[in-house]
Amino acid sequence: MKKSPSSRRGRASREADALIEFAEGLAQSGSRAEDHFWESRLEREIESLLKNGDEGSLNAALDRLADRESRAYEELADAIEGRVEHALAATSDGDRDVLLFAAPVLAWSRMPLPTRPIPAAIVKSTRQALMESVFTAAADVTLANYLFSPDQLPETFCDTAELRQTLTQTLSEGLFKVDPASLKETAQFLADQRYIIGVVSAPRGEAIFRWQSGDASREQVAERWVQVSQEALAPLLPACAFESMLPRAYYVACRDADRSARPFSIRASVAFLATTLGVTPNALVAVIGGCYNRQLEEYRIGFAVAEEEEVIHGVVWPLLGAEDEMSDVAEEIETTLRDTGLQRILMLRQRLPMEYCDDCGAPLYPNEDGEMVHAELPEVAEQPSQHLH
Ligand SMILES: [Zn+2]
Repeated sequence: MKKSPSSRRGRASREADALIEFAEGLAQSGSRAEDHFWESRLEREIESLLKNGDEGSLNAALDRLADRESRAYEELADAIEGRVEHALAATSDGDRDVLLFAAPVLAWSRMPLPTRPIPAAIVKSTRQALMESVFTAAADVTLANYLFSPDQLPETFCDTAELRQTLTQTLSEGLFKVDPASLKETAQFLADQRYIIGVVSAPRGEAIFRWQSGDASREQVAERWVQVSQEALAPLLPACAFESMLPRAYYVACRDADRSARPFSIRASVAFLATTLGVTPNALVAVIGGCYNRQLEEYRIGFAVAEEEEVIHGVVWPLLGAEDEMSDVAEEIETTLRDTGLQRILMLRQRLPMEYCDDCGAPLYPNEDGEMVHAELPEVAEQPSQHLH
């Protein structure tokens, strides 16, 4: 599962100092007039750093504000993400807003989940489906012809801004051809996110999404998209169960997907185990444990068949955003498990290490004794993922 863009320690620089000054000014501002002043300073500085590919200064400023636990951190992160995904483009029809967006899909399969080029006909039908159900009539849409895994999304702010610019240049054709050789390999999970990425443009200041124009509510748009995308995307995801999520601006869509993928993975795992082993969910046991580096990083859930010792499957539930050990995350995991029909759920109290298999790199999962072990499906069951060996 994709984590937020890596925060590498950047060097102190005049550029980073300026970002911090403007973000703190914005955080402490007491009026809309002052907000505008700091926002426009911040935007200009971010724009010039993105243009120069100066990722280091952007990250240095974020790191320093994160260390101070300052509200300015949120302001700066918002400003950077906002600038990366959005721009104004001058056209013969006047200025247009250009926005990078993502249409996330949650999918699971006993076969490896695909990441693949999207054939031109499916790009066309998907683009059509987006224009009819999600975007307003005045909007133009172009799509990258690739179904991305989380590992294959751009890693840095500068790379993401570059993707937005590259896509923008293909608005007239409606399709950007991705070079698959430029993309990373994908870690395989039973359940994971996949993304359709594109750019939408609309006349400056006008509605981009249908819910902005008053034609439909956000829920109605989501419902319609779920319907039409099932048909449009099914050929890309053979032998997969999948749920389409609401297409939104790039960063918020990715965060929506990260959050929804957690309970989705649990539901997928229970459905998979129940059908593969031919048991009902109440024959399964789940062991939930918190895994720590310096602090709580994620929960790992080991699944076993009741009265048997071996952990047969596991799910990682990463902490997101501001979540920490004080959050109600463990309760949320337990509720999700109960809703799938599990009755035997063990919550470990001890701190577990973030351990991985030395051979294949798969995460290890807790058993009932709190030991971190390799999940292995019994021989009779079909092997679902490359993590099993
Ligand atoms: Zn292994």
